[in-house]
Amino acid sequence: MVTQTYSIAIHGGAGTILRSAMTLEKEMAYKTALTEAIKAGELILKQNGSALDAVEVAITSLENNPLFNAGKGAVFTHDETHEMDASIMRGDNLMAGAVAGIKNIKNPIQLSRKVMENSEHVMLCADGAAAFAKKMGFEFTPDSYFFTEQRHQQWQSAVLEDKIALDHNIKTDEKKFGTVGAVALDMHGNLAAGTSTGGMTNKKFGRVGDSPIIGAGTYANNLQCAVSCTGHGEFFIKAVVAYDVFCLMEYKQLSLEEACRIVVKEKLVKIGGEGGLIAVDKAGNISLCFNSDGMYRASVGAQQDLLVAIYGD
Ligand code: ASP
Repeated sequence: MVTQTYSIAIHGGAGTILRSAMTLEKEMAYKTALTEAIKAGELILKQNGSALDAVEVAITSLENNPLFNAGKGAVFTHDETHEMDASIMRGDNLMAGAVAGIKNIKNPIQLSRKVMENSEHVMLCADGAAAFAKKMGFEFTPDSYFFTEQRHQQWQSAVLEDKIALDHNIKTDEKKFGTVGAVALDMHGNLAAGTSTGGMTNKKFGRVGDSPIIGAGTYANNLQCAVSCTGHGEFFIKAVVAYDVFCLMEYKQLSLEEACRIVVKEKLVKIGGEGGLIAVDKAGNISLCFNSDGMYRASVGAQQDLLVAIYGD
């Protein structure tokens, strides 16, 4: 069945994003990047393409932009490297793919799709994921591609202070989670979700956050909704955030908006988990919900005008 309804939402991270700390130029750069990414995803949906393709294309665009903590612009680990996590899921058959601690892959979201489609597994990590990438014909991009001056400075401060930091400006103690994600509903009634991140600055010991974990950072199920999260991953894992939104809708018949509000503004707040999520339901409703000062976000749909926003108002 083909309908005229489609929706797509994206995020580029949540956190302490304040007007006072932003120049007009920077704000424009973020808004342009978000607009480009969501338009690329929307074009696919408009042309009757799949939610899965729309999610992959939108995330690839954000990964290629150094403003966000994913792909180019990913934060530095303790060892001054980049270890990235990503996941993708389709709502029609619950197929999912994820990679964790992957190095030198330009677009981790594309590799996670390959895991979903060309392996019998859901998640591959580190060296094993690299071997799989090689087998799939992925190119290995040199470290220099991922280097950005701002992330390097953040890393230096984090190392000096011996802190494991979310993607943030340590000196002013501003927290900013620059992970990227996308959720979409296509005109065939299929939902999909994806998330991609560099994780935390100065992370050690192969730390992995919620982004590549199906049910925590990413979830899609045609019965209800598709969800992608951004925030302090440890809390999102403990709260099984993305799946909890689905469960509240499925088992308590809550609306998308209400389910997201309860998870993000009540349950996460209670355990100290800062961040937010984007979600779309099977009817095309969109929720952009966060408990932090702001979240880089955009949404558009057959029945919704384009929205591009950063702050909490
Ligand atoms: N959730 C990500 C993580 O903990 C961070 C982020 O959202 O920026 O790895």
